[in-house]
Order: sequence, then C-alpha cells, then structure tokens
Amino acid sequence: MMYSNYGPSLVKTIKERCRVCYTCVRECPAKAIRVAGGQAEVIAERCIGCGNCTRVCSQQAKAVLNSMKAVKALLASDAPVAACLAPSFPAEFTEYSHRVLAGRLRAMGFARVVETSFGADLVAAEYKKLVAENGGRPYISTACPAIVSYVEKYFPHLIAFLAPVLSPMGAAALVVKKLYGEGMRVVFIGPCIAKKNEAKRIADIVAVDAVLTFSELRMLLEEAAGADGSGALAPEADFDPPHPRLGTIFPLGGGLLQAAAIERDLIANKVISTEGNRNFVEVIRDFDASPRGVELLDILCCEGCVMGPGMTTTEARFARHERVSAYARLCFRERDQFEWDDAILDWSSLSLACSFEADDRRLDAPPPGVIRAILERMGKRSREDELNCGACGYETCVEHAVAIHKGFAETEMCLPYAVDKFKENAKELSVSYRQLEEAQAALIQSEKLASMGQLAAGIAHEINNPLGVILLYAHLLFDRAASGSEHRDDLKMIVEQADRCKTIVGGLLNFARKNKAVLQRADLAELVGRCVKAAKSSASLAVEFENPDEPVHADVDPEQMMQVFINLFTNAIEAMPRGGTLRVRTSRANGEVSIRVSDSGVGIPSENQKKIFEPFYTTKQMGKGTGLGLAVTYGIIKMHRGNIEVESNADPEQGPTGTTFVVTLPVRQEEA
Ligand code: ADP
Ligand code: MG
Repeated sequence: MMYSNYGPSLVKTIKERCRVCYTCVRECPAKAIRVAGGQAEVIAERCIGCGNCTRVCSQQAKAVLNSMKAVKALLASDAPVAACLAPSFPAEFTEYSHRVLAGRLRAMGFARVVETSFGADLVAAEYKKLVAENGGRPYISTACPAIVSYVEKYFPHLIAFLAPVLSPMGAAALVVKKLYGEGMRVVFIGPCIAKKNEAKRIADIVAVDAVLTFSELRMLLEEAAGADGSGALAPEADFDPPHPRLGTIFPLGGGLLQAAAIERDLIANKVISTEGNRNFVEVIRDFDASPRGVELLDILCCEGCVMGPGMTTTEARFARHERVSAYARLCFRERDQFEWDDAILDWSSLSLACSFEADDRRLDAPPPGVIRAILERMGKRSREDELNCGACGYETCVEHAVAIHKGFAETEMCLPYAVDKFKENAKELSVSYRQLEEAQAALIQSEKLASMGQLAAGIAHEINNPLGVILLYAHLLFDRAASGSEHRDDLKMIVEQADRCKTIVGGLLNFARKNKAVLQRADLAELVGRCVKAAKSSASLAVEFENPDEPVHADVDPEQMMQVFINLFTNAIEAMPRGGTLRVRTSRANGEVSIRVSDSGVGIPSENQKKIFEPFYTTKQMGKGTGLGLAVTYGIIKMHRGNIEVESNADPEQGPTGTTFVVTLPVRQEEA
C-alpha cells in the first residue's frame, strides 16, 4: 500500500513522560488505552484516532504519527502537489489572512492551494438529497472519520446506517484530481488526526497522499521561513478555485445541517445534531437502543472540528467559532454567487459514493464468574463495594474488571483498592515497628538483668565470708547450748535462717559466675540415680526411676550436672505440695542422651513457660524461691552443647496437670 509510512498506531505513548494518571483512559471514548506494567499505551486496532488522549495528557506523553517527512518528500518530487486546506484553518492561522497563508503554501512548493470547503459544499448537497429521497430511513453522518471508525469498530451492526457519502476531504481530493490532473498529488491539511487513517480507508476511491495536522504545517512553515524569517516573505495569493460557500462552516457543530439546508426542527425531532466525545458515544448508544424515528444523526467527535487535536491555538471554542464564521462572511462578501452556482452544477454528477466495513472490536463479555473473581481481587465482594467512582478511567467497576480480564487494565488502577492496600501496608509497617520496639525493650531488660546479676554477685561475694563466720559461730553456740535451755530454740532459728542465706548467696554466685565446665567422662545414668536418691522424699511422694541397663557415658562436668538434676527435682517436688509422682527416665538414642523429668504437679501456664529460664523469675513466695535455679540449669546445659525443653499443663480442664522437662546432651564421640 502506498501509505506504508503510516505505522499501525496513530498515537503512541512516550513512556518516559507517562505518569499513569489514567486521564487518557478516562477520556478515551473507544477504551483503546491499555495500562500494563504501570504504562499507558494506545492499542492501535482499537484506536479511532480522535486524539482526545493527546489533548488531555498534561505530560505531553502522547505522540501523534508524524507525516512531515512524507510531505517533504512529495514536495521534493517532480510531481505537482496540491494542498487541501480544511475549513477550520481560520481558527488556527489567526495571525495572518488567508491570502498570506495561501502565498506561503505556494512558496513552500505546493502547486495548488485549494479549500476543502468546496468538497464540503458538494457533500452537503449529497446529504440534502439523501435525507429528502430516503424519507424515514435513518443516517449517521460520516464527515467525521473518528465517528466512522467508532461505528465500524464498536457498533458494526450499525454500518448500514452510515451515510454512504465521502467526507469533504475525499470530495475535495476528487475535484482536485479531476480539475488539475490525475497526476496531482494531494496533501490534506487539517485539525484532525483520524484523517490520517481515513486517507487509507478511501484509498481505493481517491488517493490522498498525505495528511498533515495544522500543528505539523506550522512546523513546516517555520522551517521554510528559515532562521532569519526571509522564507516567510512570500507574496500573498488567493486560493485556487473552486471556491466554497457554506462548506466553510462545516467545522462548527451543526454546520453540515446549515450547509445542506436541513432543518433541525426540535418539535419533529427527526434530526439529532451533537458533538464532543461524551455526547457522541451517548447518542450512538441511544440510537442503537431505539432509533425513535430519527432521520439523521449529525455527529462530530470533537466539539466541532475547530476543537480538533491537531491544532496549536489555545483560543476558546467561542472565539474559534467566530473566526470561522467571520471567514464565511468574508467569502459571502467577496466570492461570486453565480460562479459558485455554476461550479456546483458542474460537479453535481461527481459520484461521492463510498462504503464502510465492519471491524468488530467489541469486547465479548467474559463469564460472570470471572468478573466476580476479578472484582473480589479488588476487595469488591458485594454490590455495595462497587463504588463506580471512575477513578480508574472506567465508568463502572464491572467495565474495569472486563478490561482487566482482557489485559487492558490492572487492579492497581482502582483507587479505593489502592487506598485500602496502602492502609494495610501502613498497618503492617506499624506492627513491625511495634515488634522492633518490643525487641528493643527486651534488649534493655536483658542488659538490666545482666548488670543486676553482676551487682548481686558482687554483694553475694562480699557477704559470703562474713556469713560463713556467722554460721560457724551460730552452729558452735547451738551445739553448746544444753537441750531445754531457753536460748536453744532461738539459736536454732538463727542457724536455720543463716543456712537459707547461704543457699541464696550460693545461688547468686552460681548464676553470676562465668562458669567453665571441666569435662570428664561420667556415667550419666549413675549420676542421675544418685541425684534421685538425694532428692528429699516424703510419704506422699512416689518416685519412678528408669535407667538403661548399661552405663551411658558422656563428657560432662559431673558437679554441674548434679546441680542441674537437683534443680529440676527440687522444682518438681515443690510443684507437688500435696504429693504426686516424680518420674525420671534416662535413655539414649541417635548419639544423644535424654533425661526426662516429669511431675504431676500444678504445671506452668503457657504464658509463663517462656519466662521460667529468666534469672530471678519465680512464682514462689518471698524467701522460698530465688528464681535462679532454671537460669543456672539453662546456662550449664548450653555450656554442654545440650538442650532443655519444657512441656506443661496447668489447666485441670485440659487433662491431668504436670510438667515435663527434657534435657538432651550429646554422648561421647567414640561411643556414638
Ligand atoms: P525457683 O524455683 O527459685 O522459683 P526456678 O528458676 O527453679 O526458680 O523456677 C522458676 C519458676 O518456674 C518457678 O518459680 C515455677 O513457677 C516454675 N517452675 C519450674 N519448674 C516447675 C515445675 N516442675 N512445675 C511447676 N512450675 C515450675
Ligand atoms: Mg527452683
């Protein structure tokens, strides 16, 4: 095809500029923008070329297919080239007259400069005939190529209603070729992006060799003017005939109707005229649902071509309208009515027929289950959760879900969902922050404990010697006191309490001492047995003791190990004030020896199980416990590369109460 320089996509996203605000998604009437991987991109086959996305993008992240190179090549070639200027030009080229513009175009190399509006005059006449002759049959106007594309893609079943008439561009191109020779190349220049695709669509009827936007023409004019502007000093010139009349107002909403003298009778309401990207979608949808006796739908995608995306002017719609109207008035004043009548008559036999092809791009509805699942993924579990806020660019949550299903959209585009996720993350963050705080507090606590231990050990060390002296003399005095003497009971009390002090001081010293285990080969089973015998027993206490038949040798510090078992047995017995059973079982397996110490005592509530190894943790009454037994035990076992675990039940409703400590120690290498 000769238009191969036109890529498949009229509009492309400049990735570095896109900030993914979804404005283009929202403003695209064809839903032809895909957001994937945090990037918005135009889907070429869905795009109708309306250029809305280029207009609404605040980041100028949408680039329109550039035709400047193609036009320069045409002008540089031997073939004569005609410029077909769209009737909205007065709204764009406000700084000089049409004569200056025509002169500069000629200077650029265009052999002819004609007004597309004459084509519009012919098209208007065709519409007048169409509506008059086909009474009752509804038509959708086809002057706007974006509207044609929209119907072909999204309402393909309505293409029979598209007015089978070329657009003013096509009509003007036909006239130019017939009048100035088939060899004349045609460049259409207008405010429209969709025309770049229309040229391809009508290629079989008439060749429009390139389509320039006004913005592109401006750039070419600037280039031609040169740095010193000398190129801009072209002599003024008039447009080439045929000259237009009412076709000049085609770019205004309702312009076609006035040019065709079709009455828009609001009471009969057979002619609907509207423009703008929201209105046209609504009108076509409405028409599809019920044509209601409408005879002509006159619709423009932009708010009139004067608001087209291929313009640089920033003037308001009203001002642009006035510029076009003023030019129309000028034409009426200066052009010859009879000359126009003759021209129209001359060209009245020119066929402007054209046809359209369905290009169905409708999204077929995915199964409801799929949509439900996608909605649920976005936290929309019920109808009330579907806010239809439109922040994602889609009108409804369901439309958004369908787009997600088709791969056009992402769940993250849902604002309420994103906010929820953000809140969740913030919550998670605050949880980990709290955990960090707790860990910090625990660290401070353990440091406190360590320094407390040091202090306690220092004091214990100082007290130990004088306490020894007190004990010695107390024992001496007690031994000397005759039985029945009045001091004997008092002395007994002193001896007992001093003994307790000795135990506590001993415990503190043990806890704080940087112990070093002196390992030697010992039979652990025998060692445990000795400690069991030493454990104080009472009538209400049953002791069950189970040992393997042969000795269990391990490298341990026997004295420290005995301390471990004594501590465990003492605790067990103290947990059974009203009697019970103490079970001790030593066994060997997998290179380890394990000693299970079970009691049927009160048990340890699960919330306390973590704390029992902490120094000074005790639940025993003042003077009874030091809270150092298990701390010392733990230290010794760790020094022996062993392990200690606890299982306990303190709740009678959960079964019999009691506690089991399991100590595991590695056995001697050569025996393993
Ligand atoms: P102390 O015996 O001086 O209180 P320990 O370090 O030996 O200190 O024990 C700490 C705490 O662990 C005890 O106060 C007790 O609450 C709990 N505990 C230890 N062993 C048992 C057990 N066999 N049954 C129930 N509680 C126990
Ligand atoms: Mg204890």
